[in-house]
Amino acid sequence: MVQVNTPYPATPVLTGFLKEHGVEAHQADLSLEVALRLFTPETVDAALARIPSGRVPRKLKPFVTLSRDYRENVAPVVRFLQGAAPELAWRFAHPGSLPEGPHFRELTPDEESDPEETLLALCGQQGIEARAKIRASLFLDDLAGYLAEALDRDFAFARYAEHLAVAAPSFDPILRRLKGKPSYIDEILDGLVAEQLRRFKPDFVGVTVPFPGTVYGAFRIAQAVRRLAPEVKTLLGGGYVNSELRDLTDERVFDYFDFISYDEGFAPLLGILGLGPRVRTRVRGTTPADVANGRCAGVSPAPCKVRVSDYSDLDLGRYLSLVETSNLMHRLWSDGRWIKVQLASGCYWHRCRFCDVALDYIGRYAMPEPRQAVDAMLAMRDATGVGAFHFTDEAVPPSLCRAISDELIARGEKIVWWGNIRFDKGFTPDIAARMAEAGCIAVTGGLECACDRLLKLMNKGVTCGGARAVCEAFADTGVLVHAYLMYDYPSETLAETIGALDFVRHLFADGCIQSAFWHRFALTVHSPLAADPPEGLVPGRPANPRHGRFALNEIPYTYAGGKAGEEIGKALSLATYNYMLGRGLDMPAKVWFKT
Ligand code: SF4
Repeated sequence: MVQVNTPYPATPVLTGFLKEHGVEAHQADLSLEVALRLFTPETVDAALARIPSGRVPRKLKPFVTLSRDYRENVAPVVRFLQGAAPELAWRFAHPGSLPEGPHFRELTPDEESDPEETLLALCGQQGIEARAKIRASLFLDDLAGYLAEALDRDFAFARYAEHLAVAAPSFDPILRRLKGKPSYIDEILDGLVAEQLRRFKPDFVGVTVPFPGTVYGAFRIAQAVRRLAPEVKTLLGGGYVNSELRDLTDERVFDYFDFISYDEGFAPLLGILGLGPRVRTRVRGTTPADVANGRCAGVSPAPCKVRVSDYSDLDLGRYLSLVETSNLMHRLWSDGRWIKVQLASGCYWHRCRFCDVALDYIGRYAMPEPRQAVDAMLAMRDATGVGAFHFTDEAVPPSLCRAISDELIARGEKIVWWGNIRFDKGFTPDIAARMAEAGCIAVTGGLECACDRLLKLMNKGVTCGGARAVCEAFADTGVLVHAYLMYDYPSETLAETIGALDFVRHLFADGCIQSAFWHRFALTVHSPLAADPPEGLVPGRPANPRHGRFALNEIPYTYAGGKAGEEIGKALSLATYNYMLGRGLDMPAKVWFKT
């Protein structure tokens, strides 16, 4: 499962690439299809049928009590969130029009606040449609939770059986589940695979796994292909493979997939299909070292260019726009259809000590020619009718942002776009204004520990003052800003964490950023920090399971100075959640911590 508002970009870009090379290629988004089969009156009935009457679990009581409301509303809500029935906004904006479960209560910043008042206060200026979308989305979130409880506890909206693939040294848990009794959702997925095999009659099936919450589903798909069409060859690729499966030694994975492709899939796919040299591809009997050197070695990468993704098998009108927050910046990830585009390959900075810079998708930087990039974007807009782009780069450099903006302005094209940057001082007010004029509506970037000592230690290449100036430049032009934040970096003190939150509070209060998210520092095997740890940081030894290794990325570690407790992360999240709602901005950051 991945986000259901817009297609994940890997399959459209690979489909377009294969067609360019004369291969008959098709794609299907089984993540969306599973969601659309789950959110139906029939699945509500199936869930109800599995709940023992007389012994209704506490969590399911509201669902059972309001089952008629859930059943009657699920299809109209799906249609509304697909954009097919805008008139329903008048109904769903109204309090009490939909049953309200746990996700409605989470909307309020504290237990005393009234959910309705909060929603009205937050969305007052955004109108009927925004309120209706939030209600309809929370309705689906609630329903997803109830369906998971009744049908398959491993299900969540944008991830399925994720725990099996997060920090998973052994393949055993995935294997056990694959060989066990299929759940209701497993059966949906198996049925979808059978349908796609009948529809396309492929010789070859590739599955992309961007995140841990897609991994079990990918193996389930491969298992169904093996059973229904054993002659079909199977391939696994994607972000999870690139960062987690580089050290794979468990050969049982090849019972499901004939090939594993590393890094950008273009050259490996051509090699597997016999249209080029076999590169960056594992098959049974090969070792991790074979990918880095020897018989599975890479080739010189092709010149960087923006590829024209092919969306022809995907019906964009079936995707669901979800809005789970009134925060405008936060909505961009789940609301609306975005053509996702990678402009440059890799990160132009590639020097942060905590980052996976040893991996190709970060460490190997190449920039496309701006005119070609804009040509490709406009070709995709003309083919899909969607003139909204999300640049998924690790960090688009200021020079490329400037050049793309100049090109769009010169051509008089009216599109909107947003993407990931570094808070690099190269983003001057002049460039920010130019980007806004060219249709940039938002930027996201890493402010990490928001503390100059730690930013220097992690070699981020920015300072708090410099980052603030960049945020101000964007804010002055009306471009929204989201900051990625980090806590518990080795040697970080509580005083520094509180100072960082205070810095962030001021950014919110002064309108320099509109949203932010904290995540805890994690030590990964592909980072400079793991290769050359500072004094006091001791990386742990990765587990070595009996049948060989499955995934390896994050590694355990100890730090002589200790680590932050769980309560620090909770305090940071709660404070930032309030800041995003415009609350608590006049209180010093330390009030969120029990010090
Ligand atoms: S953290 Fe971001 S800016 Fe730093 S090297 Fe990684 S991708 Fe580049």
